[in-house]
Amino acid sequence: MIPRKIIEAIINAAKIAEVVEDYTQLKNRGTNKIGLCPCHNETTPSFSVSPAKGIFKCFGCGKAGDSVKFVMEYKKLSYENALRLLAKKYNINIPEN
Ligand SMILES: [Zn+2]
Repeated sequence: MIPRKIIEAIINAAKIAEVVEDYTQLKNRGTNKIGLCPCHNETTPSFSVSPAKGIFKCFGCGKAGDSVKFVMEYKKLSYENALRLLAKKYNINIPEN
């Protein structure tokens, strides 16, 4: 188990646009960012990210959520393993028992 304090630190560090941009290119569209959905095949962007709300939504395949949910969906990881991947990206140390 990852301590709650560490989970909160990971979620605070993992800005949605930064996490998504590791996997797909985003363009600014008003207050949101849009791009091609990395979770399904498409040629016109229907993948929208709201940095202000910290969430993504794909209008093509219907996937939506925060940065942890994005990693879970895209990398097919469990909640805990998604947190571990993000901890690595942001150099957050998870104490192991
Ligand atoms: Zn999609």
